Amino acid sequence: MPQFRQIIDEARAILPFTGAGISTECGIPDFRSPGGMWTKNRPIPFDEFLASQEARNESWRRRFAMGDEFGNAKPGRGHRALASLYRAGKVPAVVTQNIDNLHQASGIAPEHVVELHGNTTYALCMDCQQRYELSWVRSRMEAGNGCAPDCTACGGYITTATISFGQAMPDTAMRQAEALLLSCDLFLAIGSSLVVWPAAGFPLMAKRNGARLIIVNREPTDFDDIADLVVRGDIGTVFEPFVDDGSSTDVHRL
Ligand code: NAD
Ligand code: ZN
Repeated sequence: MPQFRQIIDEARAILPFTGAGISTECGIPDFRSPGGMWTKNRPIPFDEFLASQEARNESWRRRFAMGDEFGNAKPGRGHRALASLYRAGKVPAVVTQNIDNLHQASGIAPEHVVELHGNTTYALCMDCQQRYELSWVRSRMEAGNGCAPDCTACGGYITTATISFGQAMPDTAMRQAEALLLSCDLFLAIGSSLVVWPAAGFPLMAKRNGARLIIVNREPTDFDDIADLVVRGDIGTVFEPFVDDGSSTDVHRL
C-alpha cells in the first residue's frame, strides 16, 4: 500500500480503466460470478435482436428483471476514490467497460466517463438515436402485451444504450480511450480480467508509451508480469484510503 500511494502521488495524469470488479461491492455481480445474472442466460446476439420481435421482447424482459435487482446500486469505495482523485485534478477521465452508470453517479462528469460498452440506464433508437427512458419502454411494454415498442419518431428498434455481443466497439469512445491512454503517465487497471479486447490491449499500449502500470484485482491477470505494481486485493478496501468526499466510507449495499 505505501508503494501504491507513492505511485499515485507521483502521477500527474492517471487513467483508471475499470471493469465489473469495481461494482461487485455495490451488489452487481461480475461476469464470472457463478449463478450471476450475466451467466444464467445465453446472451442474445445482436443479429438475433434485429431479426426477431421475440428476441427484442426477451431482451427487454431481462433488462427489467436486472433493474429490479440492481437498479438501486450506489457507487462503491472504488468509484468514490476515483471521483475524489478526479476532483483533485489527478484523473482527467475514466475509461470503463461497465454499463452501470456508477462513475457518473459518483460525481464524474458524463463527458469524462468513456464507456466502451455503453450504458444500460437509458435507451436509444438504433436508427435516429432518439433517447428514451426505461420507464417509458416498460410502460409501453406493459400496455402492449409484452411487446417491445419501436421508436415513435422513425419506427426504428429501441435498445438500451449498450453494445451487444457481436456489435462493433463504438468509434468515438475508442478514439477517446486511446487518446487518454497515450497521454496518461499512470494506467490503473481496476477490476478487469483483461481478457476481452480492447481491454486486453490497453495495458501494453500504455506501457509501450511510457506510462506506469498498476493492476488492482483479486485474481491474477495475464498482464501482471509487465505491471509496475500488482495490488492483489479487494478493490473497496484498497481504495478506501483515497475516498475524500466528506462522507463515511460505509460499503453501499443493496
Ligand atoms: P470480468 O468479470 O471479466 O472481470 C472482473 C474481475 O474483477 C475479475 O478478475 C474478478 O476477480 C475481479 N473482481 C471482482 N470483484 C472484485 C473485488 N471486489 N475486488 C477485486 N477484484 C474483484 O469483468 P470485465 O473485465 O469488466 O468484463 C466483463 C464484461 O461484462 C464487461 O464487458 C462489462 O461490460 C460487462 N459487465 C458489466 C457490469 C457492470 O456494468 N457493473 C457487470 C458485469 C459485467
Ligand atoms: Zn428513431
